[in-house]
Order: sequence, then C-alpha cells, then structure tokens
Amino acid sequence: MKITWLGESGFILDDGKTSVLLDPYWSDALGERRADRHRLLPVKQEWLERNYDLVLFTHAHIDHTDPQTVQMLLGRQPRLMFAGPPSSHAVLKDCPCFFELYEGAKVTLGAFAIRALPAIHSDRYALGYEIVHEGKTLYFSGDTALLCDLAARVPHQPDAAFLCFNAGVGKNMNAQDAAVLAERIDARLVIPFHYGILPGGVTPEELEALLMKQQRPCFTPAYGETFEV
Ligand SMILES: [Zn+2]
Ligand SMILES: [Zn+2]
Repeated sequence: MKITWLGESGFILDDGKTSVLLDPYWSDALGERRADRHRLLPVKQEWLERNYDLVLFTHAHIDHTDPQTVQMLLGRQPRLMFAGPPSSHAVLKDCPCFFELYEGAKVTLGAFAIRALPAIHSDRYALGYEIVHEGKTLYFSGDTALLCDLAARVPHQPDAAFLCFNAGVGKNMNAQDAAVLAERIDARLVIPFHYGILPGGVTPEELEALLMKQQRPCFTPAYGETFEV
C-alpha cells in the first residue's frame, strides 16, 4: 500500500484499487480566524484532482475535520463517503453520506479492514483507527493523551504506528508520551505526525532521539512524500 503524508494529520492510503483519505486539512480556515495560524505550505494540486473512496475523520477539531476541505471534495465527488465520530458529523451536517463511528465500529472497504479505536482527547468522541491491509496492521493514534490503559486497547506490535504528538497541549501526547506508547505497544515502526503545516508546531527530532534509544525504527516523511508500508 502506498501512503502519502499531507502534513499535520492528513494521509492518503492507496493500494491501486481503493483510496482512503484521513483527516485532510486543505483550506486556510485557521488562518482566517487568527493571523498567526496561516498555513505554511500550499496544498498540492494532485491531491485535489484524485478520486477517493472514503474520507475518515478522527475528531472534530478544524485541522482534522475541515468543512471547507469537505466542500472541495464534494465539488468533485458529490457522492463521496465520509465516516468518523458524531462530533465530526455535527460540523458536517450537509454531508449527504456520513457514517457515524464509535469505538469498536468496523468498516470494510476493498482490502481495507478499518476498526475505530479509543482516543482520549478534548473532543470526547475522538477516535484512533486500526487499518489492516493484506496482513499488515497500521495504527493511527489520532489526537490522544497517553492514559495508562491506552496501550492495552490499541493494536500490539503494529507494523506501523502513526503517532500524533505535539508539545503536550490540548490533551495530546508530547514526544515523551509518544515514545512511551511506542514502547508499550512494541511498534515495529513509528511514523510521527501532527506538524508541518501550521506555524509554531513541534518538529520530530526529540521523538526520533527517544525512539533511537529504544532501537525502534522511525520514519519521518517529507511534506507530500509517498512511501510504502
Ligand atoms: Zn484535536
Ligand atoms: Zn490535532
């Protein structure tokens, strides 16, 4: 499967037959509200010109569930399917095809088996996701704090753990928390995210160094980079 990182929490997962888009933030909605929140990098035209089979959201914060991005997607694909927690649905009321997901919900699409997982965040409906594809298990943490039982409720030894972290603000993991979670679930590979587009964010060096101490592989894609998992 090919995965493209879109900056912040956005990813495209594509196996040539099915294309899943996760938490796309393609507008400048935050910059329109606050002058110090303008996006730093432009959206790539190729992302806007592709077709998707499903758009998944982890929670309702605007850099994860962005109504302007959804309007762009619907302009091209009016029947596109969306799925995510009820908090995301609440800000996307006009979406014609939205499936509400709660922890434990399963969605099968082509070769993708998706399961909604817990995330402990300031949006109380926030979710993480397990995505199993051709024998590989991927874990997307979404925005979450590290609570003591989180590791027991998400996949153990995932082939890749996509771990969301920032400076530890807004009920999110910081780099140390993300390293602890990676160790507790014994992730075979860590891909850190939730930075890159917005000013004042974290950079991955601290987390990379902590993972190196664990001798745990870590991959930090460049903005817009496509890689295989
Ligand atoms: Zn959030
Ligand atoms: Zn976030």
